[in-house]
Amino acid sequence: MNVSDSERVATDLASQGYQITSDAASADIVLINTCSVREKAEQKLFTQVGRIRQRFGDEPVIGVMGCVAQLEGDTLFKSAPSIDFVIGTKAVGRVDEAISNVIKQRTGILPNARDAARHADPMFESHRSSKFAKYIDVGEREIDYDWSVAEEQRSSKFVAFVPIIEGCNKFCTYCIVPFSRGRERSLPAAEIVRQVLTLMREGVREVHLIGQNVNSYRPTTEAGLEGFKGSTPFSRLLRAVAATGIERIKFTTSFPRDFKPDIVEAIEENDNLCNWVHLPVQSGSDRVLKAMRRLHTIDSYKKRIDRIKSSSKDIALTTDIIVGFPGETEADFRKTVELVEYSGYDSAYIFKYSPRPGTPAFEMGDTVSEEEKTSRFIELERVQRDVQRRRLQRYLGRTVSVLAERESSKSTDDISGHSTCHKVVNFRGSRDMIGSIRNVRITEVKSNSLYGEVC
Ligand code: SAH
Ligand code: SF4
Repeated sequence: MNVSDSERVATDLASQGYQITSDAASADIVLINTCSVREKAEQKLFTQVGRIRQRFGDEPVIGVMGCVAQLEGDTLFKSAPSIDFVIGTKAVGRVDEAISNVIKQRTGILPNARDAARHADPMFESHRSSKFAKYIDVGEREIDYDWSVAEEQRSSKFVAFVPIIEGCNKFCTYCIVPFSRGRERSLPAAEIVRQVLTLMREGVREVHLIGQNVNSYRPTTEAGLEGFKGSTPFSRLLRAVAATGIERIKFTTSFPRDFKPDIVEAIEENDNLCNWVHLPVQSGSDRVLKAMRRLHTIDSYKKRIDRIKSSSKDIALTTDIIVGFPGETEADFRKTVELVEYSGYDSAYIFKYSPRPGTPAFEMGDTVSEEEKTSRFIELERVQRDVQRRRLQRYLGRTVSVLAERESSKSTDDISGHSTCHKVVNFRGSRDMIGSIRNVRITEVKSNSLYGEVC
């Protein structure tokens, strides 16, 4: 979601005449996008701000966006006085206004006509406060906010992120996201389909429908869903996007409680709905899941993954797991190990629990010691590595369809891409293959990727 936000901010700024550079040394304005899912995010931000000021002096304007900006607001100006502006998660459409304001404070001149007009408009006054002779905007998203990304600002020419739902209403007890990203709001299906059609015209071959919980997708209008079957709006949206004819569609993240069989049915019925599901379980213990307020049990989770795994489309399954949640006992942890062995994940992101102030779990204390968290983390990683090694063997000798995305970082003779099952696949090839979809026969299974040859 942060990558997608950055792409949209770059799109907006470029349309205002700003030049986008990833070279901090040549930048007049540095924008830092932040994540606060785990702790130390603020420290990382302050270190980075300090580094920029040390290397480039007072000249560059520094702006902070993302979840830390939303949550910390103007306290950031106290902790790091050299930050010039703060933009909340829903104010990303107004970064240009923040820049103009800061530049005006510094020079007394407004950089462009659109901002001059906005400054005359009392509507925009409500978003502003200049307590520390700084600029902050943690206001709401504009009703007509433009979710599209210009071709030049996409991180990939061939793969694009398409947000379908923002925010989260689940309030898992450990998680800061509902506070930093606000309530769920679904984009109209007609708008999503329109975006996918535009992306196709621009040469995009794979879209990722993204949201904190994609299967909570519930738009306020039927527009774009008419005529598409499915027992939930999300599976209808999947069918509507599949009907555009784009070659590959992936989606993430799915919330286990709301993951209904109609999603698997949609994947089975449409060739362009990719065979990959990311279904974060978080823990293998019902007791811990209840304390986390995940709203699923291990039994209900297993039913869902059994359906996924019995699919003829060989759907790859991945997950997120937290170790060391408050009150997690050795017995609870053993259940997580058992679940990982049962589930046969193709890959798993494992995190050590990180207390987030303001969340209900923060009040439960951080009862599992750092050493214990580390030892559980290492053990679970080892178990998952073994599971993964066995699991990935099934690809040996098989042909998978790979979107060639870039030259491999390890060898200029190799091309790197992703399969429909979202594995990184490297194969011998040349740059002119980039952007094409190739059938690759897998000859070698590595710990986190596959290697093969074009057939
Ligand atoms: N909406 C998604 C993912 C949200 S954040 C979902 O519900 O699965 C991505 C992952 O970060 C989560 O799945 C969780 O495993 C991890 N995470 C979130 N808060 C955390 C915390 N306080 N400590 C450690 N890991 C956390
Ligand atoms: Fe966080 Fe839970 Fe929402 Fe995911 S579903 S973003 S883990 S509160």
